[in-house]
Amino acid sequence: MLIDQFQRVHDYLRISVTDRCNLRCRYCMPEEGLAFLEPNRYLSFEQITEVVTVAAKLGVRRLRITGGEPLVRPHLEQLIQRLSAIPGIDDIALTTNGIYLAQRAQALKEAGITRVNISLDSLRPERFAKITRGGDLSRVLEAIETSYEVGFDPVKLNVVLMKGFNDDEIDDFLRLSIERNVTVRFIEYMPIGHEGEDWKATYLPLETVLERCRVNGWEPVMLERGIKGNGPAQNYQLPGAKGAFGLIHPVSDHFCQSCNRLRLTADGNLKPCLYWEDEFNVKQALGDEQKLADLFQRALEAKPETHEMAKALHGEEKSHNPTLRRMSQIGG
Ligand code: SAM
Ligand code: SF4
Repeated sequence: MLIDQFQRVHDYLRISVTDRCNLRCRYCMPEEGLAFLEPNRYLSFEQITEVVTVAAKLGVRRLRITGGEPLVRPHLEQLIQRLSAIPGIDDIALTTNGIYLAQRAQALKEAGITRVNISLDSLRPERFAKITRGGDLSRVLEAIETSYEVGFDPVKLNVVLMKGFNDDEIDDFLRLSIERNVTVRFIEYMPIGHEGEDWKATYLPLETVLERCRVNGWEPVMLERGIKGNGPAQNYQLPGAKGAFGLIHPVSDHFCQSCNRLRLTADGNLKPCLYWEDEFNVKQALGDEQKLADLFQRALEAKPETHEMAKALHGEEKSHNPTLRRMSQIGG
């Protein structure tokens, strides 16, 4: 079992399959200048399968495929097929920007993806294009419809809230959770790989969402952890709503005590925590099951009790070094 020194059981692995992306969301990666890995640095599908096989023996049950944009990695369906055949793995989810999802959804479902999180930070075409630096909203909306059609369940939308960019759309997203069977997950803008003035000026605590409910006279009911794959989200439902909404607030109120996840980057680094720089490269252990298992244990031993993202807000000194990677190089 993957249990760390704080008694947290790890049964969830997030796998980034590429650091490349067809968008350039302003909160995730810079417009230009970020160097991408040479393709020969990516773990191959065989290597990822080997790592996950060991992880499953150690108790990992759930996987999430992420990136960069996972759908720019060629033949991703082949990887999903391999992973779903590993004994012990009973859930494989996908986080995507949705641009290529409509065409691929059926094949991904057949390969073994059970549910999707689609990133969607604005419901207004021009603003969506501005935040993503060029994204076409209509393709994401089409992907959402296709996700229902092929039977992904649940369909979740990831909304990173940014002051001055999309905070005036909170009501629209809440209304969407009333009208559609969708879980809208509001996410605080995290200082991953950049925590300067730009981040501080744009960061918005998620209390704002509950405040909008109060202003509108909507009384959200807090849900038990009933929605599949809830993870760190605190979930609510508005009266009469077909869907729900969730709050993921790592900065204003961290949920590290219930952290159950490890991350594997596209270049083969196990990350115990999203925020800190510690990494353990699996490439040195490939081909040796015991070495891989030991590496997982070392990653767990290095996992700190908590991240300290909130300290970035006030420029306070931190106990470890934050990662220099951007979110697209980790997978979120
Ligand atoms: N490209 C895919 C996508 O956008 O869904 C998967 C990778 S993306 C890095 C994973 C998630 O991280 C997305 O939902 C994205 O909105 C979120 N994300 C990226 N940068 C973030 C940041 N600085 N703070 C909070 N969430 C962030
Ligand atoms: Fe690409 Fe996803 Fe990052 Fe946007 S959030 S730049 S879609 S990796």
